[in-house]
Amino acid sequence: MKFSNTYINLGQAFFQRCLPQKSPAPELLLWNKPLADDLFISEELQSDKCLLSQYFSGSKLPEGAESIALAYSGHQFGHFNPQLGDGRAHLLGEVIDKNNKHRDIQLKGSGQTKFSRRGDGKCALAPALREYIMSEALFALGVPTSRCLSVVITGETIHRGLAKSGAVVTRVADSHIRVGTFQYFAARGDITSLKALVDYSIKRHFPEIENDTDEPLSSEQGILSFLSCAIDKQINLIVEWLRIGFIHGVMNTDNTAICGETIDFGPCAMLGVYDENKVFSSIDEYGRYAFGNQGKIAHWNMARLADCLMPLLIDIADKSLSKSEQEQQALNKVEHLIHQYSHKFDDAYFTMYGKKLGINNGVANKSLISNLLATMQSENLDYTKTFLQLTKSLSDENIAKKVSNTLGDWYQQWLVVLAQEETLKSTTQSGIQQSYYPLAESLMEKNNPVVIPRNHHVEAILEFCETIIGHNPSAITSSTKEVINNKVNEFLDVLRSPYKEIAATTKYQETSEDSDKYYQTFCGT
Ligand code: AMP
Ligand code: MG
Repeated sequence: MKFSNTYINLGQAFFQRCLPQKSPAPELLLWNKPLADDLFISEELQSDKCLLSQYFSGSKLPEGAESIALAYSGHQFGHFNPQLGDGRAHLLGEVIDKNNKHRDIQLKGSGQTKFSRRGDGKCALAPALREYIMSEALFALGVPTSRCLSVVITGETIHRGLAKSGAVVTRVADSHIRVGTFQYFAARGDITSLKALVDYSIKRHFPEIENDTDEPLSSEQGILSFLSCAIDKQINLIVEWLRIGFIHGVMNTDNTAICGETIDFGPCAMLGVYDENKVFSSIDEYGRYAFGNQGKIAHWNMARLADCLMPLLIDIADKSLSKSEQEQQALNKVEHLIHQYSHKFDDAYFTMYGKKLGINNGVANKSLISNLLATMQSENLDYTKTFLQLTKSLSDENIAKKVSNTLGDWYQQWLVVLAQEETLKSTTQSGIQQSYYPLAESLMEKNNPVVIPRNHHVEAILEFCETIIGHNPSAITSSTKEVINNKVNEFLDVLRSPYKEIAATTKYQETSEDSDKYYQTFCGT
Protein backbone atom coordinates (compact mmCIF):
# COMPACT_ATOMS: atom_id res chain seq x y z
CA MET A 1 0.00 0.00 0.00
CA LYS A 2 1.31 3.39 -0.93
CA PHE A 3 0.37 5.90 1.72
CA SER A 4 0.41 9.67 1.69
CA ASN A 5 -1.13 11.87 4.35
CA THR A 6 -1.86 15.27 2.86
CA TYR A 7 -3.97 16.20 5.90
CA ILE A 8 -0.80 16.41 7.99
CA ASN A 9 0.38 19.33 5.83
CA LEU A 10 -2.48 21.39 7.27
CA GLY A 11 -0.53 21.72 10.51
CA GLN A 12 -0.63 20.59 14.09
CA ALA A 13 -3.82 22.40 15.02
CA PHE A 14 -5.74 19.88 12.89
CA PHE A 15 -4.82 16.63 14.61
CA GLN A 16 -2.93 14.77 17.28
CA ARG A 17 -0.16 12.40 16.30
CA CYS A 18 -0.85 9.21 18.22
CA LEU A 19 -0.49 5.49 17.72
CA PRO A 20 -3.32 2.99 17.79
CA GLN A 21 -3.34 0.63 20.73
CA LYS A 22 -1.90 -2.84 20.14
CA SER A 23 -4.48 -5.64 20.27
CA PRO A 24 -3.84 -8.70 22.44
CA ALA A 25 -4.88 -11.28 19.82
CA PRO A 26 -6.01 -9.69 16.54
CA GLU A 27 -7.89 -11.95 14.13
CA LEU A 28 -9.09 -10.84 10.73
CA LEU A 29 -12.80 -11.56 10.62
CA LEU A 30 -14.00 -9.87 7.43
CA TRP A 31 -12.01 -8.67 4.46
CA ASN A 32 -13.54 -6.65 1.61
CA LYS A 33 -11.67 -8.05 -1.38
CA PRO A 34 -13.42 -5.97 -4.10
CA LEU A 35 -12.61 -2.78 -2.18
CA ALA A 36 -9.05 -3.92 -1.49
CA ASP A 37 -8.59 -4.50 -5.23
CA ASP A 38 -9.93 -1.01 -5.98
CA LEU A 39 -7.31 0.37 -3.58
CA PHE A 40 -4.53 -1.60 -5.32
CA ILE A 41 -3.71 -3.64 -2.22
CA SER A 42 -1.37 -6.31 -3.56
CA GLU A 43 -2.42 -9.96 -3.79
CA GLU A 44 0.64 -10.79 -1.73
CA LEU A 45 -0.52 -8.64 1.18
CA GLN A 46 -4.13 -9.76 0.76
CA SER A 47 -3.09 -13.39 1.17
CA ASP A 48 -1.17 -12.68 4.40
CA LYS A 49 -4.05 -12.78 6.88
CA CYS A 50 -1.76 -12.49 9.85
CA LEU A 51 -0.17 -9.25 8.59
CA LEU A 52 -3.60 -7.88 7.61
CA SER A 53 -4.89 -8.51 11.12
CA GLN A 54 -1.86 -6.69 12.54
CA TYR A 55 -2.25 -3.70 10.20
CA PHE A 56 -6.00 -3.40 10.48
CA SER A 57 -6.19 -3.74 14.23
CA GLY A 58 -3.57 -1.03 14.61
CA SER A 59 -1.05 -3.42 16.16
CA LYS A 60 1.48 -2.62 13.46
CA LEU A 61 1.61 0.39 11.15
CA PRO A 62 1.94 -0.32 7.43
CA GLU A 63 4.99 1.31 5.86
CA GLY A 64 4.32 4.94 5.03
CA ALA A 65 1.29 5.26 7.33
CA GLU A 66 1.34 8.17 9.80
CA SER A 67 -1.29 7.70 12.44
CA ILE A 68 -3.28 10.76 13.53
CA ALA A 69 -6.53 11.54 15.36
CA LEU A 70 -8.46 14.44 13.82
CA ALA A 71 -9.77 17.45 15.72
CA TYR A 72 -13.39 18.54 15.24
CA SER A 73 -16.33 20.03 17.09
CA GLY A 74 -20.00 19.45 16.45
CA HIS A 75 -23.62 20.21 17.16
CA GLN A 76 -25.01 17.09 18.79
CA PHE A 77 -28.82 17.09 18.77
CA GLY A 78 -28.62 20.85 18.32
CA HIS A 79 -26.18 21.51 21.18
CA PHE A 80 -22.71 22.71 20.35
CA ASN A 81 -19.75 20.77 21.72
CA PRO A 82 -16.51 22.60 20.87
CA GLN A 83 -14.27 19.63 21.65
CA LEU A 84 -15.13 16.29 20.02
CA GLY A 85 -12.54 14.82 17.65
CA ASP A 86 -11.52 11.23 16.93
CA GLY A 87 -11.80 9.66 20.36
CA ARG A 88 -11.48 6.11 19.09
CA ALA A 89 -10.19 6.44 15.54
CA HIS A 90 -6.80 6.71 13.88
CA LEU A 91 -6.29 7.97 10.35
CA LEU A 92 -3.43 6.01 8.79
CA GLY A 93 -3.27 8.14 5.66
CA GLU A 94 -4.57 8.18 2.11
CA VAL A 95 -4.14 5.78 -0.76
CA ILE A 96 -5.02 6.39 -4.39
CA ASP A 97 -7.80 4.22 -5.72
CA LYS A 98 -8.59 2.94 -9.20
CA ASN A 99 -10.44 6.19 -9.99
CA ASN A 100 -7.28 8.12 -9.14
CA LYS A 101 -8.95 9.53 -6.05
CA HIS A 102 -7.36 9.95 -2.63
CA ARG A 103 -9.17 7.72 -0.12
CA ASP A 104 -8.68 7.98 3.64
CA ILE A 105 -7.87 4.77 5.48
CA GLN A 106 -9.01 5.06 9.08
CA LEU A 107 -9.12 2.58 11.95
CA LYS A 108 -12.09 2.84 14.30
CA GLY A 109 -12.07 1.22 17.75
CA SER A 110 -8.28 1.38 17.86
CA GLY A 111 -7.82 2.95 21.29
CA GLN A 112 -7.84 6.25 23.11
CA THR A 113 -6.58 9.60 21.85
CA LYS A 114 -6.49 13.00 23.47
CA PHE A 115 -10.05 13.49 22.16
CA SER A 116 -11.46 10.45 23.99
CA ARG A 117 -12.96 12.37 26.91
CA ARG A 118 -14.45 9.61 29.09
CA GLY A 119 -14.62 6.97 26.34
CA ASP A 120 -12.47 3.84 26.24
CA GLY A 121 -11.47 4.30 22.59
CA LYS A 122 -12.91 0.90 21.69
CA CYS A 123 -15.62 -0.45 19.44
CA ALA A 124 -17.71 -3.56 20.02
CA LEU A 125 -18.07 -6.24 17.36
CA ALA A 126 -21.76 -5.72 16.54
CA PRO A 127 -21.50 -2.00 15.60
CA ALA A 128 -18.38 -2.76 13.56
CA LEU A 129 -20.26 -5.47 11.65
CA ARG A 130 -23.27 -3.19 11.22
CA GLU A 131 -21.08 -0.50 9.65
CA TYR A 132 -19.52 -3.09 7.32
CA ILE A 133 -22.86 -4.53 6.18
CA MET A 134 -24.79 -1.26 5.95
CA SER A 135 -22.08 0.65 4.09
CA GLU A 136 -21.65 -2.19 1.61
CA ALA A 137 -25.42 -2.28 1.08
CA LEU A 138 -25.58 1.48 0.53
CA PHE A 139 -22.66 1.33 -1.88
CA ALA A 140 -24.36 -1.36 -3.96
CA LEU A 141 -27.58 0.67 -3.93
CA GLY A 142 -25.64 3.56 -5.47
CA VAL A 143 -25.76 5.82 -2.41
CA PRO A 144 -22.63 7.90 -1.68
CA THR A 145 -20.95 6.27 1.29
CA SER A 146 -17.76 5.52 3.14
CA ARG A 147 -16.96 1.79 2.99
CA CYS A 148 -15.32 -0.79 5.20
CA LEU A 149 -12.20 -2.65 4.25
CA SER A 150 -12.11 -5.02 7.18
CA VAL A 151 -13.31 -6.03 10.61
CA VAL A 152 -10.67 -7.42 12.95
CA ILE A 153 -11.55 -8.75 16.37
CA THR A 154 -8.98 -7.61 18.86
CA GLY A 155 -9.12 -10.56 21.27
CA GLU A 156 -10.09 -8.15 24.02
CA THR A 157 -13.32 -8.16 26.02
CA ILE A 158 -14.82 -4.68 26.34
CA HIS A 159 -17.69 -3.49 28.49
CA ARG A 160 -20.93 -2.04 27.14
CA GLY A 161 -23.22 -2.90 30.01
CA LEU A 162 -22.52 -6.50 29.06
CA ALA A 163 -19.15 -8.00 28.12
CA LYS A 164 -18.59 -7.70 24.37
CA SER A 165 -15.91 -8.68 21.94
CA GLY A 166 -13.77 -5.69 20.91
CA ALA A 167 -13.26 -5.00 17.20
CA VAL A 168 -11.53 -2.57 14.89
CA VAL A 169 -13.30 -1.60 11.69
CA THR A 170 -11.27 -0.02 8.90
CA ARG A 171 -13.13 2.73 7.16
CA VAL A 172 -12.35 4.02 3.67
CA ALA A 173 -13.74 7.48 2.87
CA ASP A 174 -13.27 10.33 0.42
CA SER A 175 -12.12 12.24 3.50
CA HIS A 176 -13.05 12.72 7.13
CA ILE A 177 -13.60 16.46 6.91
CA ARG A 178 -16.86 17.23 8.63
CA VAL A 179 -18.98 20.35 9.12
CA GLY A 180 -17.67 19.97 12.67
CA THR A 181 -14.08 20.38 11.45
CA PHE A 182 -14.94 23.90 10.24
CA GLN A 183 -16.78 24.54 13.49
CA TYR A 184 -13.70 23.56 15.48
CA PHE A 185 -11.64 26.40 13.99
CA ALA A 186 -14.50 28.91 13.76
CA ALA A 187 -15.21 28.39 17.48
CA ARG A 188 -11.57 29.18 18.23
CA GLY A 189 -11.47 32.24 15.97
CA ASP A 190 -8.64 30.60 14.02
CA ILE A 191 -9.08 32.27 10.63
CA THR A 192 -5.77 31.02 9.24
CA SER A 193 -6.71 27.38 9.82
CA LEU A 194 -10.22 27.95 8.48
CA LYS A 195 -8.78 29.39 5.29
CA ALA A 196 -6.39 26.48 4.94
CA LEU A 197 -9.27 24.05 5.47
CA VAL A 198 -11.40 25.69 2.76
CA ASP A 199 -8.46 25.60 0.34
CA TYR A 200 -7.73 21.96 1.16
CA SER A 201 -11.39 20.94 0.86
CA ILE A 202 -11.76 22.64 -2.52
CA LYS A 203 -8.64 20.99 -3.88
CA ARG A 204 -9.61 17.59 -2.56
CA HIS A 205 -13.35 17.54 -3.18
CA PHE A 206 -14.32 20.30 -5.57
CA PRO A 207 -11.43 20.75 -8.01
CA GLU A 208 -13.92 22.19 -10.50
CA ILE A 209 -13.93 25.39 -8.40
CA GLU A 210 -10.17 25.63 -8.71
CA ASN A 211 -10.31 25.10 -12.46
CA ASP A 212 -13.08 27.66 -12.97
CA THR A 213 -11.33 30.63 -11.42
CA ASP A 214 -8.01 32.45 -11.48
CA GLU A 215 -8.70 33.94 -8.06
CA PRO A 216 -7.22 32.50 -4.85
CA LEU A 217 -9.40 29.68 -3.49
CA SER A 218 -10.29 31.51 -0.32
CA SER A 219 -11.50 34.55 -2.26
CA GLU A 220 -15.17 35.46 -1.93
CA GLN A 221 -15.99 33.55 -5.08
CA GLY A 222 -14.05 30.49 -3.93
CA ILE A 223 -15.69 30.44 -0.49
CA LEU A 224 -19.21 30.83 -1.87
CA SER A 225 -18.65 28.22 -4.57
CA PHE A 226 -17.38 25.88 -1.88
CA LEU A 227 -20.54 26.35 0.18
CA SER A 228 -22.71 25.88 -2.87
CA CYS A 229 -20.91 22.63 -3.84
CA ALA A 230 -21.12 21.29 -0.27
CA ILE A 231 -24.87 22.03 -0.25
CA ASP A 232 -25.39 20.23 -3.57
CA LYS A 233 -23.55 17.16 -2.26
CA GLN A 234 -25.69 17.08 0.90
CA ILE A 235 -28.91 17.39 -1.07
CA ASN A 236 -27.87 14.55 -3.32
CA LEU A 237 -26.96 12.43 -0.31
CA ILE A 238 -30.19 12.94 1.61
CA VAL A 239 -32.38 12.42 -1.45
CA GLU A 240 -30.53 9.15 -2.08
CA TRP A 241 -31.16 8.09 1.54
CA LEU A 242 -34.84 8.85 1.08
CA ARG A 243 -34.96 6.93 -2.18
CA ILE A 244 -33.96 3.68 -0.50
CA GLY A 245 -35.49 4.32 2.95
CA PHE A 246 -32.34 4.92 4.99
CA ILE A 247 -32.53 6.63 8.37
CA HIS A 248 -29.09 7.77 9.50
CA GLY A 249 -30.24 8.37 13.05
CA VAL A 250 -27.59 10.79 14.24
CA MET A 251 -27.10 13.59 11.72
CA ASN A 252 -25.03 15.75 14.06
CA THR A 253 -22.71 18.23 12.34
CA ASP A 254 -19.73 16.09 13.38
CA ASN A 255 -21.28 13.21 11.43
CA THR A 256 -21.78 15.28 8.28
CA ALA A 257 -18.95 14.81 5.80
CA ILE A 258 -18.24 17.73 3.47
CA CYS A 259 -17.68 15.32 0.57
CA GLY A 260 -21.33 14.23 0.84
CA GLU A 261 -20.71 10.60 1.77
CA THR A 262 -22.61 8.68 4.45
CA ILE A 263 -20.37 8.36 7.52
CA ASP A 264 -20.79 7.19 11.11
CA PHE A 265 -23.33 4.40 10.96
CA GLY A 266 -24.28 4.46 14.63
CA PRO A 267 -27.99 3.96 15.20
CA CYS A 268 -28.93 3.79 11.51
CA ALA A 269 -31.86 1.69 10.30
CA MET A 270 -34.04 1.06 7.27
CA LEU A 271 -37.62 2.16 6.86
CA GLY A 272 -40.11 -0.70 6.63
CA VAL A 273 -43.66 0.63 6.76
CA TYR A 274 -43.70 4.14 5.25
CA ASP A 275 -43.80 6.71 8.01
CA GLU A 276 -42.20 10.09 7.56
CA ASN A 277 -41.99 10.45 11.35
CA LYS A 278 -40.21 7.15 11.83
CA VAL A 279 -37.39 7.14 14.39
CA PHE A 280 -35.56 4.01 15.56
CA SER A 281 -32.79 5.56 17.62
CA SER A 282 -33.35 5.18 21.35
CA ILE A 283 -31.79 8.58 22.06
CA ASP A 284 -33.71 10.58 19.44
CA GLU A 285 -36.51 11.45 21.85
CA TYR A 286 -38.04 14.29 19.85
CA GLY A 287 -37.65 12.85 16.36
CA ARG A 288 -35.04 15.38 15.30
CA TYR A 289 -33.53 12.79 12.94
CA ALA A 290 -36.78 11.15 11.82
CA PHE A 291 -36.92 9.74 8.27
CA GLY A 292 -38.82 12.67 6.79
CA ASN A 293 -36.88 15.29 8.73
CA GLN A 294 -33.50 14.45 7.23
CA GLY A 295 -33.76 17.03 4.45
CA LYS A 296 -34.52 19.81 6.95
CA ILE A 297 -31.69 18.73 9.22
CA ALA A 298 -29.17 18.72 6.38
CA HIS A 299 -30.37 22.27 5.62
CA TRP A 300 -29.73 23.25 9.24
CA ASN A 301 -26.30 21.58 9.13
CA MET A 302 -25.42 23.53 5.98
CA ALA A 303 -26.44 26.74 7.73
CA ARG A 304 -23.93 25.81 10.47
CA LEU A 305 -21.25 25.41 7.78
CA ALA A 306 -22.22 28.83 6.43
CA ASP A 307 -21.78 30.30 9.94
CA CYS A 308 -18.18 29.09 9.88
CA LEU A 309 -17.49 30.77 6.54
CA MET A 310 -18.78 34.17 7.69
CA PRO A 311 -15.53 35.25 9.45
CA LEU A 312 -13.60 34.41 6.27
CA LEU A 313 -15.88 36.59 4.16
CA ILE A 314 -15.71 39.42 6.69
CA ASP A 315 -11.93 39.10 6.72
CA ILE A 316 -11.75 39.86 3.00
CA ALA A 317 -14.64 42.36 2.93
CA ASP A 318 -14.34 45.90 1.58
CA LYS A 319 -12.61 47.70 4.43
CA SER A 320 -14.09 51.08 3.46
CA LEU A 321 -17.41 49.79 4.81
CA SER A 322 -18.29 49.87 8.49
CA LYS A 323 -17.90 46.66 10.46
CA SER A 324 -21.65 46.08 10.59
CA GLU A 325 -21.97 46.73 6.84
CA GLN A 326 -19.21 44.19 6.20
CA GLU A 327 -21.06 41.66 8.34
CA GLN A 328 -24.38 42.36 6.64
CA GLN A 329 -22.86 41.95 3.19
CA ALA A 330 -21.26 38.62 4.13
CA LEU A 331 -24.54 37.46 5.67
CA ASN A 332 -26.53 38.38 2.56
CA LYS A 333 -24.20 36.30 0.43
CA VAL A 334 -24.30 33.11 2.49
CA GLU A 335 -28.00 33.52 3.23
CA HIS A 336 -28.74 33.59 -0.45
CA LEU A 337 -27.16 30.14 -0.84
CA ILE A 338 -28.76 28.76 2.30
CA HIS A 339 -32.19 29.96 1.12
CA GLN A 340 -31.62 28.29 -2.25
CA TYR A 341 -31.35 24.95 -0.45
CA SER A 342 -35.13 24.58 -0.06
CA HIS A 343 -36.07 24.79 -3.70
CA LYS A 344 -33.01 22.80 -4.81
CA PHE A 345 -33.94 20.08 -2.35
CA ASP A 346 -37.57 20.16 -3.44
CA ASP A 347 -36.58 19.71 -7.09
CA ALA A 348 -34.18 16.86 -6.31
CA TYR A 349 -36.78 15.22 -4.05
CA PHE A 350 -39.59 15.22 -6.62
CA THR A 351 -37.24 14.28 -9.45
CA MET A 352 -36.14 11.26 -7.40
CA TYR A 353 -39.71 10.18 -6.58
CA GLY A 354 -40.63 10.75 -10.22
CA LYS A 355 -37.99 8.20 -11.20
CA LYS A 356 -39.24 5.76 -8.58
CA LEU A 357 -42.58 6.02 -10.37
CA GLY A 358 -41.12 5.79 -13.88
CA ILE A 359 -41.81 9.47 -14.53
CA ASN A 360 -39.09 11.65 -16.00
CA ASN A 361 -40.60 14.90 -14.83
CA GLY A 362 -41.30 14.37 -11.14
CA VAL A 363 -41.42 18.12 -10.48
CA ALA A 364 -44.45 18.45 -12.77
CA ASN A 365 -46.22 15.67 -10.84
CA LYS A 366 -45.80 16.77 -7.25
CA SER A 367 -49.36 16.08 -6.15
CA LEU A 368 -49.38 12.59 -7.67
CA ILE A 369 -46.22 11.80 -5.68
CA SER A 370 -47.42 13.41 -2.45
CA ASN A 371 -50.76 11.62 -2.68
CA LEU A 372 -49.07 8.25 -2.98
CA LEU A 373 -46.84 8.95 0.03
CA ALA A 374 -49.87 10.10 2.03
CA THR A 375 -51.70 6.86 1.20
CA MET A 376 -48.66 4.78 2.10
CA GLN A 377 -48.50 6.61 5.43
CA SER A 378 -52.21 6.23 6.25
CA GLU A 379 -52.42 2.60 5.06
CA ASN A 380 -49.16 1.49 6.73
CA LEU A 381 -47.73 0.22 3.45
CA ASP A 382 -44.22 -1.15 3.25
CA TYR A 383 -42.01 1.38 1.44
CA THR A 384 -39.75 -0.96 -0.54
CA LYS A 385 -42.49 -3.47 -1.36
CA THR A 386 -44.95 -0.87 -2.58
CA PHE A 387 -42.55 0.58 -5.14
CA LEU A 388 -41.45 -2.90 -6.17
CA GLN A 389 -45.05 -3.99 -6.68
CA LEU A 390 -45.77 -0.85 -8.68
CA THR A 391 -42.80 -1.66 -10.90
CA LYS A 392 -43.89 -5.27 -11.38
CA SER A 393 -47.48 -4.24 -12.00
CA LEU A 394 -46.45 -2.78 -15.35
CA SER A 395 -45.83 -6.23 -16.77
CA ASP A 396 -47.92 -8.49 -14.54
CA GLU A 397 -51.71 -8.22 -14.65
CA ASN A 398 -52.29 -10.04 -11.37
CA ILE A 399 -49.98 -7.70 -9.50
CA ALA A 400 -51.56 -4.76 -11.31
CA LYS A 401 -55.01 -5.82 -10.03
CA LYS A 402 -53.74 -6.15 -6.47
CA VAL A 403 -51.92 -2.81 -6.41
CA SER A 404 -54.80 -1.06 -8.09
CA ASN A 405 -57.15 -2.43 -5.39
CA THR A 406 -54.90 -1.08 -2.66
CA LEU A 407 -54.23 2.32 -4.23
CA GLY A 408 -57.65 2.90 -5.83
CA ASP A 409 -58.03 5.86 -8.20
CA TRP A 410 -54.44 6.88 -7.66
CA TYR A 411 -53.28 3.86 -9.70
CA GLN A 412 -55.28 4.94 -12.76
CA GLN A 413 -54.06 8.53 -12.42
CA TRP A 414 -50.50 7.25 -12.37
CA LEU A 415 -51.02 5.20 -15.54
CA VAL A 416 -52.40 8.28 -17.28
CA VAL A 417 -49.19 10.18 -16.48
CA LEU A 418 -47.10 7.26 -17.71
CA ALA A 419 -49.10 7.13 -20.91
CA GLN A 420 -48.53 10.84 -21.46
CA GLU A 421 -44.79 10.36 -21.13
CA GLU A 422 -44.58 7.24 -23.22
CA THR A 423 -45.92 6.10 -26.56
CA LEU A 424 -48.01 3.02 -26.00
CA LYS A 425 -46.32 -0.19 -27.00
CA SER A 426 -48.08 -3.38 -28.11
CA THR A 427 -49.02 -5.82 -25.36
CA THR A 428 -47.70 -9.05 -26.71
CA GLN A 429 -44.76 -10.16 -28.73
CA SER A 430 -44.33 -13.85 -29.52
CA GLY A 431 -46.83 -14.66 -26.80
CA ILE A 432 -44.84 -13.03 -23.99
CA GLN A 433 -46.58 -10.36 -21.95
CA GLN A 434 -44.86 -7.05 -22.57
CA SER A 435 -45.02 -3.94 -20.50
CA TYR A 436 -47.19 -1.14 -21.83
CA TYR A 437 -44.63 1.23 -20.42
CA PRO A 438 -41.16 -0.19 -21.07
CA LEU A 439 -39.34 3.10 -20.51
CA ALA A 440 -41.09 3.70 -17.21
CA GLU A 441 -40.52 0.14 -16.14
CA SER A 442 -36.82 0.29 -16.85
CA LEU A 443 -36.48 3.62 -14.99
CA MET A 444 -38.32 2.12 -12.02
CA GLU A 445 -36.16 -1.00 -12.01
CA LYS A 446 -33.09 1.19 -11.66
CA ASN A 447 -34.52 3.24 -8.80
CA ASN A 448 -36.50 0.76 -6.73
CA PRO A 449 -34.49 -1.91 -4.91
CA VAL A 450 -35.77 -5.49 -4.85
CA VAL A 451 -34.05 -5.95 -1.51
CA ILE A 452 -32.69 -3.73 1.27
CA PRO A 453 -30.83 -4.60 4.48
CA ARG A 454 -33.98 -5.00 6.57
CA ASN A 455 -33.44 -4.36 10.26
CA HIS A 456 -34.44 -7.81 11.49
CA HIS A 457 -32.06 -9.52 9.07
CA VAL A 458 -29.16 -7.26 10.05
CA GLU A 459 -29.90 -7.83 13.74
CA ALA A 460 -30.15 -11.61 13.29
CA ILE A 461 -26.72 -11.70 11.67
CA LEU A 462 -25.12 -9.48 14.33
CA GLU A 463 -26.63 -11.63 17.07
CA PHE A 464 -25.48 -14.82 15.37
CA CYS A 465 -21.89 -13.50 15.12
CA GLU A 466 -21.85 -12.25 18.70
CA THR A 467 -23.20 -15.55 20.01
CA ILE A 468 -20.84 -17.72 18.06
CA ILE A 469 -17.81 -15.72 19.19
CA GLY A 470 -19.13 -15.80 22.73
CA HIS A 471 -17.37 -14.36 25.72
CA ASN A 472 -13.92 -15.54 24.84
CA PRO A 473 -12.90 -13.49 21.80
CA SER A 474 -9.24 -14.43 22.24
CA ALA A 475 -10.05 -18.08 21.50
CA ILE A 476 -11.69 -17.67 18.09
CA THR A 477 -11.03 -20.63 15.81
CA SER A 478 -10.68 -20.70 12.05
CA SER A 479 -13.90 -22.69 11.73
CA THR A 480 -15.75 -19.97 13.70
CA LYS A 481 -14.34 -17.35 11.34
CA GLU A 482 -15.47 -19.40 8.36
CA VAL A 483 -19.00 -19.80 9.71
CA ILE A 484 -19.22 -16.02 10.28
CA ASN A 485 -17.82 -15.24 6.84
CA ASN A 486 -20.30 -17.57 5.19
CA LYS A 487 -23.21 -16.07 7.09
CA VAL A 488 -22.26 -12.44 6.41
CA ASN A 489 -21.30 -13.06 2.80
CA GLU A 490 -24.50 -14.92 1.97
CA PHE A 491 -26.38 -11.78 3.05
CA LEU A 492 -23.90 -9.45 1.32
CA ASP A 493 -24.16 -11.37 -1.96
CA VAL A 494 -27.87 -10.59 -1.98
CA LEU A 495 -27.36 -6.96 -0.91
CA ARG A 496 -24.76 -6.48 -3.62
CA SER A 497 -27.45 -7.18 -6.20
CA PRO A 498 -30.10 -4.74 -4.96
CA TYR A 499 -31.86 -4.17 -8.29
CA LYS A 500 -31.86 -7.73 -9.59
CA GLU A 501 -33.21 -10.76 -7.80
CA ILE A 502 -30.80 -13.66 -7.40
CA ALA A 503 -31.68 -17.11 -6.07
CA ALA A 504 -31.21 -16.13 -2.42
CA THR A 505 -32.97 -12.75 -2.66
CA THR A 506 -36.40 -14.01 -1.52
CA LYS A 507 -34.86 -15.13 1.77
CA TYR A 508 -34.21 -11.49 2.66
CA GLN A 509 -37.25 -9.72 1.19
CA GLU A 510 -39.88 -10.44 3.80
CA THR A 511 -40.74 -7.82 6.40
CA SER A 512 -40.39 -8.53 10.11
CA GLU A 513 -43.33 -10.11 11.92
CA ASP A 514 -44.11 -7.00 13.95
CA SER A 515 -43.19 -4.58 11.10
CA ASP A 516 -40.34 -3.26 13.31
CA LYS A 517 -42.91 -1.85 15.73
CA TYR A 518 -40.67 -2.41 18.75
CA TYR A 519 -37.31 -2.11 17.01
CA GLN A 520 -34.80 0.27 18.59
CA THR A 521 -31.23 1.18 17.71
CA PHE A 522 -28.45 2.45 19.93
CA CYS A 523 -25.38 4.62 19.37
CA GLY A 524 -22.56 2.39 18.19
CA THR A 525 -20.07 2.93 20.97
P1 AMP B 1 -20.00 8.93 17.28
O1 AMP B 1 -21.25 8.75 18.03
O2 AMP B 1 -19.27 7.64 16.98
O3 AMP B 1 -20.16 9.77 16.07
O4 AMP B 1 -19.03 9.70 18.28
C1 AMP B 1 -19.25 10.98 18.80
C2 AMP B 1 -18.00 11.42 19.52
O5 AMP B 1 -17.74 10.56 20.64
C3 AMP B 1 -16.73 11.38 18.69
O6 AMP B 1 -15.90 12.42 19.15
C4 AMP B 1 -16.15 10.04 19.03
O7 AMP B 1 -14.75 9.98 18.81
C5 AMP B 1 -16.48 9.93 20.51
N1 AMP B 1 -16.60 8.53 20.93
C6 AMP B 1 -17.60 7.68 20.65
N2 AMP B 1 -17.37 6.48 21.22
C7 AMP B 1 -16.20 6.56 21.88
C8 AMP B 1 -15.44 5.67 22.67
N3 AMP B 1 -15.81 4.42 22.90
N4 AMP B 1 -14.27 6.13 23.19
C9 AMP B 1 -13.86 7.38 22.97
N5 AMP B 1 -14.54 8.29 22.25
C10 AMP B 1 -15.70 7.88 21.70
MG1 MG C 1 -19.23 10.55 14.76
